[in-house]
Amino acid sequence: MPDLAPYAATDAGSRGRRHAEPGPRYRGEYQRDRDRIIHSAAFRRLEYKTQVFVNHEGDLFRTRLTHSIEVAQIARSIARALRLNEDLTEAIALAHDLGHTPFGHAGQDALNACMKDFGGFEHNLQSLRVVDELEERYAAFRGLNLTFETREGILKHCSLPKARELGDVGERFLKREQPGLEAQLTNLADEIAYNSHDVDDGLRAELITLEQLDDIELFRALFEEVRGSYPDLPERRAIHEVVRRMINRQVIDLIETSQAALDAAQPADIEAVRRHEAPLIRFSEDMRRQNLELKRFLREHLYRHYRVHRMSAKAARVIRALFEAFFEDIRLLPDEARAHARRLGETLGEAGRARAVADYVAGMTDRYAIAEYERVYNPRELT
Ligand code: MG
Repeated sequence: MPDLAPYAATDAGSRGRRHAEPGPRYRGEYQRDRDRIIHSAAFRRLEYKTQVFVNHEGDLFRTRLTHSIEVAQIARSIARALRLNEDLTEAIALAHDLGHTPFGHAGQDALNACMKDFGGFEHNLQSLRVVDELEERYAAFRGLNLTFETREGILKHCSLPKARELGDVGERFLKREQPGLEAQLTNLADEIAYNSHDVDDGLRAELITLEQLDDIELFRALFEEVRGSYPDLPERRAIHEVVRRMINRQVIDLIETSQAALDAAQPADIEAVRRHEAPLIRFSEDMRRQNLELKRFLREHLYRHYRVHRMSAKAARVIRALFEAFFEDIRLLPDEARAHARRLGETLGEAGRARAVADYVAGMTDRYAIAEYERVYNPRELT
């Protein structure tokens, strides 16, 4: 890694992996994490999982895979500018959504409700569970055996009771410490990515309009700027140009504000970053306000649009129905999932069986969930 800042994560300063392994020969430790994530089954499934729009709505909409790649792109640019560890940043970005259920937040809420007597379901914890437990690809250990820093970055938030159960990566929530800077910046890169692309996808789906966006400072200022320089640009192209500039403006604000905060605090190393009373990666006050305005707008006009609600309601029904059928009778599960349910049922009882069913349902892609629903409930589907 060329010329990292003293407070960047480094292989030498890593808290290591849960199972000791010899170091990689031609790669860094975080590069190896990134590579393991890319080769995981959960990563491939991101292609057919969605956030707001259901996958078959149209080929142009973002999926969780393209979203994760956009987050990685934004996060790496920020990491490089701040002389932080790009490999670690990329690993966290590519893994951050691995635990998402099918059908975005509607799916997660429905599964959480199904699991309410068994410890709940939270996508962030599930992402960690995927890399720690559920991926079975290595002979010597379960999961991907990622470094502490990548796992720390994946676990963005966590309740205190859960933090107690989680051991090392849970500790910072109990001690009220910060994660490393690479984790902090990836979290904000995620926000930059989804706020901007939800504007783009929302306009394309005609769920929101340019007139509505005229009330949003971040959008309006840039739209006027683009219209001023290119008055004859077709609308679709103007929107792309605005979305591009929205990302750019937020990234530059984040880099400059964070660099100033780092210069002022001068943390000696990653441990000093963790002990710092507040995150050092941050937007300026003005950008934070504009961001919040955009988020509120999207919540009100996009995520609560009746067409989105219709999709969400259907999605929730599919998730609930699948969970109920499998939880009631695990013999309906395919071999591997059934074995997992038996194993967890034997050690943890009913809660274990519920957890295994949640693991199976959460791992599904949108289209697989719909197909499973058909296979389980439709009497004409005899397979
Ligand atoms: Mg995300």
